[in-house]
Amino acid sequence: MLKSPLLQNVSGFINGQWYDAGDAESFAVINPADGSTLADVPKLGSAETRQAIECADAWMRSGISIADRGLLLKAIGDQITANRDELGRIITHEHGKPLKEAVTEADYAASFFQFYADHVDYLDPKLLTLQPRGHAWRVFARPAGVAGLITPWNFPIAMLAKKMSAAIAAGCGCVVKPSSKTPLATVALFALLQQLGIPAGMLNLVMGTAAEISKTLCEHPAVRVISFTGSTEVGRKLMQDSAAQLKRLSLELGGNAPFIVFEDADLNLAAEHLVQNKFRASGQTCVCANRIYVQASVVDKFVEILERQVRALKVSNGMEPGCDIGPLIDKHAYLKVKGHVDDAISKGARVIVGASDPDEPKNEYGCFFPPTILTQVKSEMRCVREETFGPIVPIISFESEEEAVQAANATEYGLASYLFTADRQRGNRVSEQLKFGHVGLNSGTGPAAAAPFGGFKQSGFGREGGIEGLHDFVEYQTVAEPLS
Ligand code: NAP
Repeated sequence: MLKSPLLQNVSGFINGQWYDAGDAESFAVINPADGSTLADVPKLGSAETRQAIECADAWMRSGISIADRGLLLKAIGDQITANRDELGRIITHEHGKPLKEAVTEADYAASFFQFYADHVDYLDPKLLTLQPRGHAWRVFARPAGVAGLITPWNFPIAMLAKKMSAAIAAGCGCVVKPSSKTPLATVALFALLQQLGIPAGMLNLVMGTAAEISKTLCEHPAVRVISFTGSTEVGRKLMQDSAAQLKRLSLELGGNAPFIVFEDADLNLAAEHLVQNKFRASGQTCVCANRIYVQASVVDKFVEILERQVRALKVSNGMEPGCDIGPLIDKHAYLKVKGHVDDAISKGARVIVGASDPDEPKNEYGCFFPPTILTQVKSEMRCVREETFGPIVPIISFESEEEAVQAANATEYGLASYLFTADRQRGNRVSEQLKFGHVGLNSGTGPAAAAPFGGFKQSGFGREGGIEGLHDFVEYQTVAEPLS
């Protein structure tokens, strides 16, 4: 079991208290690096989710002022920062990512609370300068209602921080449902919230069978916002389940990010950014480059530079010093990645680095996949058509700008994209043509708290981060009063 001062209570958190689940059934949280059990978590279901929703709804009847929300957001951000090392240790144990990355994830989470602490006054009531129909018009940003926050396993604390910070800023009570694979960083965050003395009912946590909890959130009338990060498949299901009540949805879904390298690009820079982007969380992020398009005239040179960098990467347990790539989350994930490599090889791809036929892991966990570069990749291969979520770099060559843009956009997804070129005009032109919510121009960076982030097409809708991230959690109300 994982010992931590932040994991003294491992259970749901409802109405300001850890839920006493008695002898309820539990589920195990497993360390993906070695298969050891980190914690047993009591499984909660519909009844507890309803209770959490009703407590959040009751809290919203009093709520807190906009200024006090700002103070609370700042306190939470500071508390996360003060506990970054411990949160990082918990994240590495449950997710597998290298410790340095996990600590950075805690910092990234804190940055959202800090950003909204600094910008919550955007929600202050506004008096319109125009006075149509002889009336004074005031515009209020009212909390939309209870928010259901459902998060994935690949960023155990950051994906929740994005949602929770905006929901607190807006004044919404929340019911949080983290992934059963990595719920412990969320439990640790609730321990920190409890230390801060958050009002009872404001923020609640339920863990257990996903379909049951999510359905209750979608069907309860007090829940007005469902903010979900995860797969497109589950996003579609939540949309169906909440259609009857026309709930407001914010869906941050899957990606299939293209990374385009033009022949005039700084190839060293492009390779360095690709390595940082691609192997983060062992390739298991929604913004990881999934398809690498390199102009034909520079493919060989680019692959040579990339190969040197990839060979230097260390694959190990994330707690080992110097680790660059940890395990995949489980064997199911491993078999998907291997399936993509096997499919590519069978259709003519060449393995430059990485095992073409790695030994299949014997157990469900401890599934380390070697960083792999594939060349001579074609558009019909699975690693191009689907989100791989693993450390493989499929390289596809192209001749013209038009061909690169057309291939990059040939996907149902539209989350992140990247392009490298020394030609400023081309950079701007191609950015505009890419149908993706995020474009890294000569950069492999992902999102930041100050900027709105979200998908086009089937990568979802709604935005997280930036002022725009507040919109999903507020209802604008106008009060029109005759001028005296
Ligand atoms: P997932 O399987 O869709 O799960 C996400 C959440 O939904 C988890 O809490 C999960 O709970 C729950 N869930 C699973 N099945 C459900 C069902 N039938 N009904 C209701 N809820 C259900 O996604 P994941 O595997 O955790 O995450 C990987 C995916 O997330 C990738 O596609 C990735 O691209 C995407 N992602 C997107 C972003 C973004 O910002 N757009 C960021 C990160 C990840 P349990 O774990 O308890 O089953």
